[in-house]
Amino acid sequence: MPASGTFHVDLSGATVVVTGSTRGIGRAITERLLASGARVIGLQRGTEPVGPGHQCVSVDLADPASRTDAIAQVLAEHEVDLLVNNAGINLRHEFEHFPLEEFSQVMTVNLDAVVQLIQEFGRPMLARGHGRIVSIASMLSYFGGVNASAYAASKGAVAQLTKSVANEWAGRGVAVNAVAPGYIATELNVSLREDEIRNAEIVSRIPAGRWGRGEDIAGTVLFLASEGADYLHGAVLPVDGGYLGR
Ligand code: NDP
Repeated sequence: MPASGTFHVDLSGATVVVTGSTRGIGRAITERLLASGARVIGLQRGTEPVGPGHQCVSVDLADPASRTDAIAQVLAEHEVDLLVNNAGINLRHEFEHFPLEEFSQVMTVNLDAVVQLIQEFGRPMLARGHGRIVSIASMLSYFGGVNASAYAASKGAVAQLTKSVANEWAGRGVAVNAVAPGYIATELNVSLREDEIRNAEIVSRIPAGRWGRGEDIAGTVLFLASEGADYLHGAVLPVDGGYLGR
């Protein structure tokens, strides 16, 4: 067996859109796709490309008008083969005190943007009869979180959306799947990792005995982009070091 992360998929000539492509998991996905020969168009507020072949389009995914402009800009210039809905936010409050405005902000970035991007990038894929869509869900797509009701609600919805759209599009050449990461070390959870007790508690509950890395998710996205995944439709793949199966 080759070491993890070394399998090769040739994506030369493919155009991929990745949201949140300059940081965390999205950056790891982008680096892996670029190394596979794909051209990557990143949609996020940050505009610093990760490397050659990476083009950044600035967008605030919380703002429907900004989303519409950015999507139109990409579609005017490119045929998109793969959409990776990676960007996401988590705002944490006890549910009884969760400000509705913040709840809705999480739903807007994590769900509304995903709905719009799948629709608008999906239509030309359907017209051409091929394309792939991968959304980054979460293990909170499967069970509830504490002080994370908005996040869990949005990620549960992303999983159900994935399965539903896959039902409609699987026979029309467009594969729609999701990846559900477990604990992946990024800026999203830096405060958890800095709390020694909490961090040790988390690691003790992960069968693999470590936090995941962005590369662990990037490898799965690459597999979903490959012909090895030709028969996958509506899958929500846990990539969590065994957490879900404990
Ligand atoms: P980070 O916080 O490290 O990165 C989030 C990304 O989303 C950034 O690139 C950011 O770009 C982008 N983003 C956030 N808000 C907006 C916005 N309004 N408009 C445009 N872009 C935005 O997160 P992770 O890498 O950890 O998470 C990536 C995905 O993986 C998310 O969907 C998250 O829910 C999911 N996930 C993460 C887990 C983890 O343990 N880390 C576990 C399970 C799921 P910019 O700020 O430049 O706009």
